[in-house]
Amino acid sequence: MTLLSEFELHEDAPVYQGTASPEAIEITVGKLYSEVVHRYSTYEAVVRSHFCQRMREAYGDDENLDPEVQYAFAFARHTYDYVSEEELLEIEAEDSNNGICSHGLNWLTCPCGCFEVD
Ligand SMILES: [Zn+2]
Repeated sequence: MTLLSEFELHEDAPVYQGTASPEAIEITVGKLYSEVVHRYSTYEAVVRSHFCQRMREAYGDDENLDPEVQYAFAFARHTYDYVSEEELLEIEAEDSNNGICSHGLNWLTCPCGCFEVD
């Protein structure tokens, strides 16, 4: 398992301050992500929003609760582009300004009828 040493190569990598195993946290977060990718592999934006939701289900809403939770979210942000609910809403608002729906698709490609409600 070389997960952590790989991260230390990046200067913006999260630093784990707790006493438990950072590898265990990385494995848990990685599992959450791969489950979501497995289910929603076609839609990048859907993967992101579901992954963020699964993170909050697993670790709660308070990213700074304790060193474990802090590290889990820092790791998720660094490795899997985790964003908070508020940040996601901002991203989606910006996307919709650019003609992109919450599936990360435009009116030509979204099969969910996002653009049929007018
Ligand atoms: Zn859509």
